[in-house]
Amino acid sequence: MYTYSVGASSLKARGADAPPLAEIFEMVARTATLSTDAADAKMDRMEPSPPHPPEADAPGSPLETGSSAGKEQGALFDPPEPTAEEIAAGAAMAWEIAAAEDRVVADVVLNKPLMDAYTYLVPENLRDEIAPGRRVRVPFGRGPRGGRSETGFVVAVRPVEEYANERGSKPERLKTIDRVLDEAPLVDAKMLELSRWIAEYYLCGWGQVLSSVVPAGVKRNAGTRELVFYRPTETGRAALDAGSLTKKQRAAMAAIIDAGEPVRADYVASKADCGVGVVTSLKHKGFAEQVRKRTDVTEFDDVAIEPWEELVATDEQQAALDTILAALRGQEYATFLLHGVTGSGKTEVYIRAIKEVVEYGRQAIVLVPEIALTPQTIRRFRQRFERVAVLHSHLSDAERSKHWRDIAAGRVEVVVGARSAIFAPCQHLGLVIIDEEHESTFKQDSVPRYHAREVAEKRCREAGVPLILGSATPTLESWHAAQEGRYRLLSLLRRVGKLPLPPVVTVDVRNDPQVRKGRAIGRQLSNAVKAAIEDGGQVILFLNLRGFSPAVWCRACGASLMCPDCDVSLTWHRDKGRAVCHSCAHEQTVPRACPGCGAHELKYVGVGTQKLEEEVKQVFPDATIARMDSDSMRKPGSHDEVLTRFRHSEIDILLGTQMIAKGLDFPNVTLVGVVDADTQLHQPDPRAGERTFQLIAQVAGRTGRSSRGGRVYVQSSNPAEPAIRRAAGHDYLGFVADELRDRWDMSYPPYRRLCRVILRGPDEAAVKRRANEMANALSAAAKSRNLPVQILGPAPCAVARLQKNWRFHFQLSAENPADVRSLWRTVEPEFPTGGDVDFVVDMDPLNMR
Ligand code: ADP
Ligand code: ZN
Repeated sequence: MYTYSVGASSLKARGADAPPLAEIFEMVARTATLSTDAADAKMDRMEPSPPHPPEADAPGSPLETGSSAGKEQGALFDPPEPTAEEIAAGAAMAWEIAAAEDRVVADVVLNKPLMDAYTYLVPENLRDEIAPGRRVRVPFGRGPRGGRSETGFVVAVRPVEEYANERGSKPERLKTIDRVLDEAPLVDAKMLELSRWIAEYYLCGWGQVLSSVVPAGVKRNAGTRELVFYRPTETGRAALDAGSLTKKQRAAMAAIIDAGEPVRADYVASKADCGVGVVTSLKHKGFAEQVRKRTDVTEFDDVAIEPWEELVATDEQQAALDTILAALRGQEYATFLLHGVTGSGKTEVYIRAIKEVVEYGRQAIVLVPEIALTPQTIRRFRQRFERVAVLHSHLSDAERSKHWRDIAAGRVEVVVGARSAIFAPCQHLGLVIIDEEHESTFKQDSVPRYHAREVAEKRCREAGVPLILGSATPTLESWHAAQEGRYRLLSLLRRVGKLPLPPVVTVDVRNDPQVRKGRAIGRQLSNAVKAAIEDGGQVILFLNLRGFSPAVWCRACGASLMCPDCDVSLTWHRDKGRAVCHSCAHEQTVPRACPGCGAHELKYVGVGTQKLEEEVKQVFPDATIARMDSDSMRKPGSHDEVLTRFRHSEIDILLGTQMIAKGLDFPNVTLVGVVDADTQLHQPDPRAGERTFQLIAQVAGRTGRSSRGGRVYVQSSNPAEPAIRRAAGHDYLGFVADELRDRWDMSYPPYRRLCRVILRGPDEAAVKRRANEMANALSAAAKSRNLPVQILGPAPCAVARLQKNWRFHFQLSAENPADVRSLWRTVEPEFPTGGDVDFVVDMDPLNMR
């Protein structure tokens, strides 16, 4: 971490690897400071409330809506005349005096949807502590002591004159920083810059990004505690020499002095064979004094790992690696798209590239989807590298904070983690890898709605290091970037060991006698499962619907039982005996009569994983079966446990949702069955085809990974659908060619960039009205400013009601995302907000529900 602080008369860098001064100043210069007139004007426009509504999931202080909050914000720049008390407290120091005293100001960003920083005067006593990247408490808004106290990040520190010389600044109105919260910066200059870029790109607040990317445990200093240590005083040394101490005191005093560094009381007690009370008495007499130090609670745990046998790289692996190594050695930024079929050995390429990086004393970040963070994945890295930090969502705050500090201190070679690991504070970053780059979980579904791939690209570009995106089924965005030459394509077209890709049989279930009787597994798949098990192989059955039955349906009127709060039909969970909404927490018993028509004709229809499990147990009574979905895997560790049993062939049939579709490498799996390939196909989402293709290709990739071979059965009622047909033919290139053409025709990504605005509120008419107003305002502004941005909609969302809120959305579409940004940022302050309508802005949306 950087340690730099503000000296008496100028900014002064301190510490071995502090950033060069130039960097700090540059950062200062780039900080868009909101001050006085401009700010007043902006704040006035914003009334009666701030530009974005708070997200339910945004951490930290929520913004009030309504006029009072707006006034309070405006008040920051237009405070009432200071009272005598406030003047006495130095709250309103004349800036001329401050300047004469070489005082400094700090620019602070708060956890609010505002891009700009607020400037505060730094009091003399905090001058040594204040630094960019540390958090501070500051007054905000109007109030008896100059407003509420809020927490913010310092993003720049600079001389007061510099601020005073800015056009329109009103230094006499500056408020003062109350307190510095952190002993050291939580983020460095590079992360400040990156977070600023995220806020700009994803149209949210800089402070919101910072609050979100720094883990809670790091902010609280979790995993460290303050301990008391003792060291001798001069009087103590003299007293020992003079022989004026008791025997016990003498022994204790000698132990403290001999240690040569501050020691704990219990250490002294054991050395001197006395009680800790003796140490306390030495302190009371002034012979020893206390020092407080922060220390780690946990120690770095190195897990014992079995040795690793070196592999000989295949020609394809070597060729890909050579290209990557050339970029690494040339210290240049490049994004490589490693398109490798399942089982082609992409991980081996990653590992060898990381080896090189580690040899330079640099660090690598490897992002994988959370569900692929299995012990198997982790083991692969731990086997090959000594110091691997794994960042997953089950870490305690203390563990996460420990990792964070180890990474920052350079004690970690490789960081493996889910999406947010892209923010790992590596000081000497050498390489970033995103495995399974097509996974939509790399995009965060709450503010800041960043995509780890975009952030990684930015971070790597700034650091001058390569980025590797790996996938068997790259997103159309990445594929298109490779076609355009923005990414460099590396291909692994064959599986390792000359293994063939498994043959895929598409089964049309429309005429299957068993499926027509309501079974999930048709005759062909059923026979194949039987044969595979008799042959000593293992089977994976994939179905992307959890619960027992996905609908409760009235045979009389044809309606489904719906969630009272969402536009979503309820799923029957037989184990609970309840109908459950998968979009909110609602659960209920199933009424005897249909709530719509009163008929006693409610039926459970369709098959979820629970029902599939039951059916499989019935049909294959001798097989050992395990189900993996988010209902059965609630307990921490259960996921790993099932996979371990599966690896040891204690399970014959593993069935489940996408949890089992990704990344697993089990050589004994000789059959994969996709129970229903159509679940994603008819979603009202332009990426439905892409997702269907990816899923089938990924699931198919779980078999045929040894000389035993393997086959895949895909059950579908739409076997002619291009996504299904192409996936069955392992034809990624054919699929993208078709799909890109469609995307072009639809003016859809990757040819255009979208920004989705979702409005929500309890009153349908109000939401609709607000959506129209906003869309019209944007339309008008686009026209008058001549910005090539199209506005599509507004229209009700696919899920028109969610958690009691009505939802409308519209989209901004442009070839260049900068046009969207520019349009949004200029019109944003004018948006009529307040009342009961909230809105959310999602740049490059993946979730279209
Ligand atoms: P992918 O991620 O592309 O699906 P993996 O990285 O999981 O493929 O590799 C598949 C299997 O092949 C793994 O068990 C891996 O250990 C093995 N493997 C990778 N490269 C080689 C190689 N050069 N020689 C032998 N086995 C290899
Ligand atoms: Zn619901």
